[in-house]
Amino acid sequence: MNNNYRIETKCIQSGWNPKKGEPRVLPIYQSTTFKYDTSDQMGRLFDLEDSGYFYTRLQNPTNDIVASKIAELEGGVAAMLTSSGQAANYYAVFNICEAGDHIVASSSLYGGTYNLYGTTMKKQGIDCTFVDPDASDEEISAAFRPNTKALVAETVSNPSLVVLDIERIARIAHDHGVPLIVDNTFPTPINCRPFEWGADIVTHSTTKYMDGHAMSVGGCIVDSGNFDWEMHADKFPGLTTPDESYHGIVYTKKFGKLAYITKATAQLMRDLGSIQSPQNAFLLNVGLETLHLRVPRHCENALKVAQYLSEHEKVAWVNYPGLDGNKYHALAEKYMPDGSCGVIAFGLKGGRAVSVGFMDKLQLAAIVTHVADARTCVLHPASHTHRQMTDEQLEEAGIAPDLIRFSVGIENVEDIIADLDQALQTV
Ligand SMILES: *Cc1c(COP(=O)(O)O)cnc(C)c1O
Repeated sequence: MNNNYRIETKCIQSGWNPKKGEPRVLPIYQSTTFKYDTSDQMGRLFDLEDSGYFYTRLQNPTNDIVASKIAELEGGVAAMLTSSGQAANYYAVFNICEAGDHIVASSSLYGGTYNLYGTTMKKQGIDCTFVDPDASDEEISAAFRPNTKALVAETVSNPSLVVLDIERIARIAHDHGVPLIVDNTFPTPINCRPFEWGADIVTHSTTKYMDGHAMSVGGCIVDSGNFDWEMHADKFPGLTTPDESYHGIVYTKKFGKLAYITKATAQLMRDLGSIQSPQNAFLLNVGLETLHLRVPRHCENALKVAQYLSEHEKVAWVNYPGLDGNKYHALAEKYMPDGSCGVIAFGLKGGRAVSVGFMDKLQLAAIVTHVADARTCVLHPASHTHRQMTDEQLEEAGIAPDLIRFSVGIENVEDIIADLDQALQTV
């Protein structure tokens, strides 16, 4: 692929590159296994001496082709698809951590990721300290320990819409000799490419804008190839010392810039197996082909909806980084000059009960546990995705009890506003 192509062209053309007589469209390699002529040929794959496919729990060509498109969109060196965004955020950390280690994470994470790091991974012996991503350098630095292995945050957090100061946070991570892992689900690489600002690893819930049509759950991890694992070899023995489960290969020595993704594939996928189905990867690729058309329309519609809401007398507050006067407007302008995402958070006068009652009156906007797809949808995090959190944790995560998460779709924006208008008249 010509790396000079612009991002719109990459959305369409990257990944599958057919040769003479091959299908124009990415084939679905609907096969669990792959054939070899000699026992030795296959043996070399198991030793990581040759690259190739042998079993779809580890790797499948359809997945790898779609992953390579996402790597190109993000400007990374390699990527892997996972069965979900949760699996991506789990593997991204577990690939460089083990029991006894520690991570620092933004307190404004998506509820599922907050649980993963705050509860489930703790049970595996990986501790996590949550910090406010807006805190000072000193406060964030104070959370680091000698056994800290990563700093994790979201570019634009779901649902609190906190915009990460990527350059500053990357610098703090690097000052402590660890990579910055950024979940870039909401902006997508169309609006923001965190590697350009110093992030080292990017994760995605491809379930959202990338798929774009609410068809398939999936995730992705992309490596920039920029973090120097060998320079911090004592912190990352999994990458820099022999892997006995592969006859003692050392990932950084053998694979260089591909070490991180190779280890995630060879070890984590082999042992934990959260592979994306090739069928879902095919659907994801169809979504990616229009990502550059859909994302700007989501942003354009969202800005109009946010402006409408901010002028409505029954609306108590609106949070959308694209709005003038928003706390994160300047950061959004810096990192996402073309727009942030299509998701808005707002609350109604009268508090939680009014917000919930209002949602039931919406007709076009559907109440679904989803966000960031073509159809406008709505959710009340305190009653739904973040239900397990205490009021204190909600506040820490920047989620007001009355917060309505409104995911603006790509319908005609006048119809979306008319729907909001009729529902607001009833409260
Ligand atoms: C939805 C979401 C996830 C989890 O992804 P799934 O595909 O639902 O597992 C992680 N991070 C963010 C920012 C999300 O919006």
